[in-house]
Amino acid sequence: MATYIFGHRTPDSDSIVGAISLSYLKNQLGENCIPARQGEISAETEFILEKFDGKLPELKTSVAGETVYIVDSTDKIHFQDDIDEATILGIFDHHKLGDLTTSTPLEAWIRPVGCSNTVIKEAYDHYGVAIPKDIAGMMMMAILSDTVIFKSPTCTKVDTKAVKELAKIAGIEDYKALGMEMFIVKSAVDDSSARELNTRDYKAFDMNGSMVGVNQLEMIDISALDDRKEEIFKDMQDMKEEKGLHTMLVLLTDIMKEGSQLLCVSDDISKIEKAFGKSMRGDEVWLSGVLSRKKQVIPVVQPLF
Ligand code: MG
Ligand code: MG
Ligand code: MG
Repeated sequence: MATYIFGHRTPDSDSIVGAISLSYLKNQLGENCIPARQGEISAETEFILEKFDGKLPELKTSVAGETVYIVDSTDKIHFQDDIDEATILGIFDHHKLGDLTTSTPLEAWIRPVGCSNTVIKEAYDHYGVAIPKDIAGMMMMAILSDTVIFKSPTCTKVDTKAVKELAKIAGIEDYKALGMEMFIVKSAVDDSSARELNTRDYKAFDMNGSMVGVNQLEMIDISALDDRKEEIFKDMQDMKEEKGLHTMLVLLTDIMKEGSQLLCVSDDISKIEKAFGKSMRGDEVWLSGVLSRKKQVIPVVQPLF
């Protein structure tokens, strides 16, 4: 029986590439693994797969009775509804430890680095398995995406070193230029509805019984959304009601200005104001230097619940 490998819901490039890169490694080590995904891929991920000849992983929305490896999260809420009925053989992640648990011993590679693919690169090195050119290219792009081309506070020396080594294998000289090309693709918003924008990189968090939804748009220039704010806020309100959220946050992250405009719809906006020590006039506020949801938003919001 084959083992499926996948990342979180609303898959990002790290989740998709992680499924591909970890499957190749595991297959080289004699296991039988299939890359999978839980949903549609983003324009950014499509760009990466096209550039490096990657195959779209299989859609897998139910995993009862399967054996699986998971990448890029350990929060139960980010996985299939029947994840409890799967046997988790291992985890490769770079987030806070979540609430997934297992009934059997497992392999766990969890490190405070910028990307799951950095962790997977360490596993390749550990086992002495050579990374194929195209997979190296995809892993490099996933790390550049997650670390916002090394600008994110989540980025470590291990990540920059991994990118340099992977770029060499992939035969890419100017990896930062290719990273910028990817972020330009990621920044396109004109053809997307407010709901598409609000769910592009959406994650829900259970904060002591209150559900908090956080979406992030990483863009070269967030002023492209200036005249769509009203539409975005209205849809945030709709999402809040549909999903029974206490708070819905949208981070418009400007990777050139290196900060985020935080939009908030909440049952108690004072919690969010307290978290960031700022008053939210018009339900939004500029957070200078804030680029990372996992490191600079979730850890400050969570304690207020
Ligand atoms: Mg991710
Ligand atoms: Mg990641
Ligand atoms: Mg991200």
